[in-house]
Amino acid sequence: MGANGDKRQARCLSMFSGGLDSMLAVCLLRELGAHVEAVVFDSPFFNITEAKRGAAHIGVKLHVLDFFEDITGLVEDPPHGFGGNMNPCIDCHAQMVRRTGELMEELGFDCIITGEVLGQRPMSQNRIALDTVLNSSGYGDRLVRPLSAKLLPPTRVEEEGLLDRERLLGLSGRTRKPQMALAAAYGITEYPAPAGGCLLTDEGFCKRLSDLMAHEGFGERRLLQLLRVGRHMRLPGGTKCIIGRNREDNEAILAMAAVGDLVIEAVTERGPTLLLPGGAVESDDEKRAAEICVAYGAKTAAATVKVALRVNDSYRELEVTVKERDEFVGWLL
Ligand code: SF4
Repeated sequence: MGANGDKRQARCLSMFSGGLDSMLAVCLLRELGAHVEAVVFDSPFFNITEAKRGAAHIGVKLHVLDFFEDITGLVEDPPHGFGGNMNPCIDCHAQMVRRTGELMEELGFDCIITGEVLGQRPMSQNRIALDTVLNSSGYGDRLVRPLSAKLLPPTRVEEEGLLDRERLLGLSGRTRKPQMALAAAYGITEYPAPAGGCLLTDEGFCKRLSDLMAHEGFGERRLLQLLRVGRHMRLPGGTKCIIGRNREDNEAILAMAAVGDLVIEAVTERGPTLLLPGGAVESDDEKRAAEICVAYGAKTAAATVKVALRVNDSYRELEVTVKERDEFVGWLL
């Protein structure tokens, strides 16, 4: 309470994905008179476009926090293990709460909010483990889930009277109908379909990720960003080879090429752009990559195709025998 007995405005920091539930949590608390700002975590595994779009749609200030070191550290060594793939969800979520909590204290906010709805995901075992971790993080009692708050024990901000528990919601279960109705009431017309969106839950991506972890490690951000582009192969000599699947990939690969990388492109036929980060580990891999460039290029009646090999400013050409893709698919990641 203020000196004259007025209740002061609650200040809430929202963990914000841009999904409908996270937008509703923000709108609900603003309706209750709170000042709300949002936080999203940036890393090579999550796309923050939806969060930016959602924040703009409902007009909430969005803080983007760099989560690279946090999440790569947890993928290398997850104290509570992985979910179905390389997703260390319990530790990742707890770390996001911790980082949001630190920002909350730094900026003088009162609590953290999330758009979580009780029972929406079948993860009761993880729920117990997660709550244990959150309680030990020091921010557990400042974490409010406004959409399900009435079904949960009161948090500190509710007990202090900063948030009126009676006006928070008691949603649960997998139905989306109440959320749709609320969206209409708040004038939210654009929201993405509920989906994972985290590449750490994607089996194909995780195959490439574990290969990177075993070879180059996670020290170079660019190599993690490149995992999202093109086809990936590990050649027999140990060289990493990235092959564009279309023009967009080829352009992305060229834009991400760095000093010392080997770039291979066909000269006399159409074909993909290949990137060997740091160059070929051995000369046989260089020859293999040149052959892959031709095998993944346009079908040709020619027996050989000329390819260009570039490292920094040096340029060479190589005449390569045309082979079938089948010879190389065993190296795909
Ligand atoms: S799905 Fe991805 S972003 Fe979400 S908690 Fe799990 S690891 Fe973190």
